[in-house]
Amino acid sequence: MRSAYRIALMPGDGIGPEVIREAVKIGEAVLESIGIRVFFEEFPNGAEHYLRTGETLSEETLEKLKGFDAIFFGAVGDPRIKPGILEKGILLKLRSSLDLYVNLRPVKLLNGVESPLKGFGPGDIDFVVIRENTEDFYVDMGGRVDASCSRAFEFTVNTGGARGSKYRVEVDSSSGEAFQIGVISRKGAERIIKFSFEYAIKRGMRRITFVDKANVLTEAYGLWREIAEKIGEEYKNIVESEFMYVDAAALHMVLNPKRFKVIVAPNMFGDILTDLGAAIQGGLGFAPSGNINPDGTSMFEPVHGSAPDKAGKNIANPIASILTFSLMLEHLWSRYNDEHLLEASRIIEKAVENVLASGKFKTVDMGGNTKTNEMGDAILAEAKRLVHSGR
Ligand code: ATP
Repeated sequence: MRSAYRIALMPGDGIGPEVIREAVKIGEAVLESIGIRVFFEEFPNGAEHYLRTGETLSEETLEKLKGFDAIFFGAVGDPRIKPGILEKGILLKLRSSLDLYVNLRPVKLLNGVESPLKGFGPGDIDFVVIRENTEDFYVDMGGRVDASCSRAFEFTVNTGGARGSKYRVEVDSSSGEAFQIGVISRKGAERIIKFSFEYAIKRGMRRITFVDKANVLTEAYGLWREIAEKIGEEYKNIVESEFMYVDAAALHMVLNPKRFKVIVAPNMFGDILTDLGAAIQGGLGFAPSGNINPDGTSMFEPVHGSAPDKAGKNIANPIASILTFSLMLEHLWSRYNDEHLLEASRIIEKAVENVLASGKFKTVDMGGNTKTNEMGDAILAEAKRLVHSGR
């Protein structure tokens, strides 16, 4: 157990600072009221910083961030800056430098939130998606070949799983083509699958659904499935494993989401399924996420981006970032076994649930006119009430 925790704040751009402010206001008050000491330090990285200094994320800042227990991130992106510069220079750099190989995405429909899925209420949609965050088709290996040209491509892959593996591809195309290569390494698959079992056990979850497309992409996803089956054997008395093709998983997420507890997916399928998850839980305003390295500094961010159309108007929904703060505390609990952190996480989540269930506060994305800070104030007041009433 630690006597104090250190959190780096990186609010970033657009609605980032507005929603992060609300989450920190609530998080800080709850942590303080139950006696947990947390030091926050804010980092200016984002569009303004880039325009002023030309810097996205320096090596010095990166090193400094490694000394924190977690990073609480808002969003990056700005209409004045070419798309990709901030995303690659900050977000992707953090993910790769800190080796954040787990993307954790809870999908929970809360009372008072409308899902586009008719007939489902709270309790019917409540699962987590664990997405592998470094490999698969996102290793950035591919090329284009002009018509009638023969070329050879050589790639060095540098993922968490296959450091320095070399691939050589010969292409002879008469009509022109483009290709992209997906990599599942044994080490990369093993570490996310092991993480998933440990995650499920710690939280008393008894079934994991492993997603793939091993019937068509037999090599890459065949290996993924083989590894999941093998590791699953070790855990079979505690956690049941099931295997599902990604198309079936998408169908069940819409028709029968209640059947899922933990879904584990390779990078690309995870990317797609988690967006479907955000949609069925009521939209981007409610979707939290964690980018985790179980042995290092992890980064937590609301799924939504900088939403420039809503920035500076005090109308963004802060709930995704408030739930992200709660998720961060839950992760720190599992890392440091400090029950107070779990208590704080649950108080924040319960306060969000109670405020939404009251039906009195709805931000614009929910069809109401509650302001960002008013939603934050309502959740803060409810959290304080929960702390004082002993819940
Ligand atoms: P970026 O380029 O940073 O990804 P974006 O606007 O393209 O920004 P998002 O920020 O994810 O992508 O937003 C997509 C849509 O959802 C926008 O219309 C935005 O206003 C809306 N949206 C996203 N987050 C919120 C939120 N927290 N509250 C209300 N609306 C939101």
